Amino acid sequence: MKTRCLAALLAVMSVGCTTDQSARKDVAGDRATFCIELPDEPKPWEKTAAEELEHYLGLCLGRNRLTVEGQKGVVFHVGDTAFAREQGLAPESFKDEEWLIKSFGRNVVLAGGGTRGTLYAVYHFLEDDCGVRWWGDNDEDVPVPKMLAFGVLDRRGKPFFECRNIYRWRSADPRTAVRNRLNDNGNSPIPLALGGAFTYGPPHLAHTWDRYLPFSEYGKAHPEWYSLWEGERIGGHGNGQLCLTCPGLTDEFARRLEDYIVKGAADAAAKGLAAPRIYDISHNDCTMKFCQCPSCTAERAKCGHTGMMLKFVNEVIDKAAKAHPDLLFSTLAYWLTEPVPSNGVVAADNVIVRLCNTKQNMATGIHDPDNKFMHDQVIAWKDCTKHLYVWEYAITYDKLKGYPFPSEFYIPENYRFYAENGVTGFLIEHEDFECSDMYELKFYLERKMLEDPFQKPEGLIEGFMTRYYGAAGGKVLEARKLLDRRRREKKAFIRFFPLMGEFNFFTNDDLAEVRRMFDVAEAAVADDQKRLARVKRAYLSFGRMADFRARFGGKHPPEQGVSDKPFFDIPADDKAVQNHDKSVIDFVKDIEVGDPLGGGDMVTRVKVTERDIEGYYRLPFDIGVYDLRAKKTLLRKRWEKPLGEGYCWHSVGRVKLPELGFYTYFTRKWTVQVPLCLPGMNGNEFEVKALVKFTGPMFFPGSKQPNEIRIARLAYVEP
Ligand SMILES: [Zn+2]
Repeated sequence: MKTRCLAALLAVMSVGCTTDQSARKDVAGDRATFCIELPDEPKPWEKTAAEELEHYLGLCLGRNRLTVEGQKGVVFHVGDTAFAREQGLAPESFKDEEWLIKSFGRNVVLAGGGTRGTLYAVYHFLEDDCGVRWWGDNDEDVPVPKMLAFGVLDRRGKPFFECRNIYRWRSADPRTAVRNRLNDNGNSPIPLALGGAFTYGPPHLAHTWDRYLPFSEYGKAHPEWYSLWEGERIGGHGNGQLCLTCPGLTDEFARRLEDYIVKGAADAAAKGLAAPRIYDISHNDCTMKFCQCPSCTAERAKCGHTGMMLKFVNEVIDKAAKAHPDLLFSTLAYWLTEPVPSNGVVAADNVIVRLCNTKQNMATGIHDPDNKFMHDQVIAWKDCTKHLYVWEYAITYDKLKGYPFPSEFYIPENYRFYAENGVTGFLIEHEDFECSDMYELKFYLERKMLEDPFQKPEGLIEGFMTRYYGAAGGKVLEARKLLDRRRREKKAFIRFFPLMGEFNFFTNDDLAEVRRMFDVAEAAVADDQKRLARVKRAYLSFGRMADFRARFGGKHPPEQGVSDKPFFDIPADDKAVQNHDKSVIDFVKDIEVGDPLGGGDMVTRVKVTERDIEGYYRLPFDIGVYDLRAKKTLLRKRWEKPLGEGYCWHSVGRVKLPELGFYTYFTRKWTVQVPLCLPGMNGNEFEVKALVKFTGPMFFPGSKQPNEIRIARLAYVEP
């Protein structure tokens, strides 16, 4: 039996250290306040559990006394110890991932089932009883050292959802995941010393069809494997799918799957990782382009996109998976395959269906009518699969990454709904920590709900605010509540690829009010550098929006040549323009334009070359306004020749701008787009004008200059 008291620990114990030696030395001091007992031959995760307990409990105590049930000389029995066995608490008595904290006088058992239960026992003790918090990588709070006196300890639990995976970023620290009872960590593996992961084998965790049968490798020899689209066999991850009714394709696919199962187990063993539990079979990440061949078309008419996909997955697994009863196989209900299958098709017993929440309003909950589609699909899917997982998106993408939206208030109710409706696992895409809205709070709520979706939501957010931001917490919460209130008042719908106008529910006056709240919040923690930095981070998404609007959103004073009325003046530079043809379009400085807003003198340049085979960049030249929600052109004007040499203002016409998303496009190829929709623009009527210059012989015969179109500014003028 290996019993080590803290004073002796440094001399005798070497346990695959994950804690900081110097910190440990400080804590250990020269006398024992508690002992840790491990099995004679501890497992890697038991060693880590002991290390973590020693490190953090040491920090919490300092040189103060620890008592349990009124007794000193506390002994922690970590993992599969003789003492635990004597109490009938051997690992076999626990379910996988189940954990237990139980005192017997001064003896405390911290143990559990599988490779993670003991770790979870230690982490629960440190978090719930000692007050340690692991907010994120390199972001933790340990209470000021003090005496700890516990009464009878007797708690056990088990995380509710079987798969708890928050994808943070590529190299996210697995310790943060494990300390917070997440059992997978995106692309970053969890070593066995941290309990391993409930994870995916090769070739990848999603969008795998082209990884099993790469079009680039087999497209020539076996075009019949790939989807027929507009008369051509196409494939590749972002470009096509498979011909799911192709004879023999499931045999070939099953062989590849077998190869990957062998490889997955071997790779994991070589790296000292737990063997993968799930292999993915899901379509490529291009939403359309499913096969149009006669046999696929006929099959689709019978059971829809989803039914076809499930039948294919079931058939592959039936051929490959008989020898692997311990494995699960996942697929995606994503875009066209989100609706439940028709014609009675259901997933095989060992198939996980991961339903992707692509149509949601990010800023509200699953019970809001805006999210009825996902709500109803979850309920419908549970009858079509024994393993329903959800692929959740926690951030907005594209250029509008990191704008504020108040999803945190709905996280508890969402996960409770999922739990009540048969969902058993999650992958939450919550990457881009550095620019994501209110990251720490949302990550905190997600992991809490993954572990226990039935806990009382009251006080969770308030508790976080107080602990994380200290005296500033109240004001930070006030700002977030204002954001939520305005969102509800305006019934704003924030998609995961949002349009600019979707954020206009929060006005410039609201932003100014939030700034005042944060001034008070920052003053409240001015002497606490750690908390001050946290408060500044909480403001970032508001600040990003305020900065953007300050640059583009003001109404600028009248200027000769544009208007004598108020207008929005937008420099057509890399901040404002979406460039959809990088082969000929770039952004350059142009001193002729000068610096209209004091922010730069960049313009958009279209190089009109011989590569422009279709001729869409040549004359005539178009400018138009397109409504993204209604999917229609609202305004278009065409010029057969340049208005003159040098920059000229082009009057496009009058338009009532839509409430949410639109863009103004340039050229007949629509590859220069300005998607800005700022408060005050949406729903109102404007004259659209643009400052454009043409050069070169293509536009002015005999000119020696290069053939170019330069777009300098775009103005929306009040009529
Ligand atoms: Zn086909």
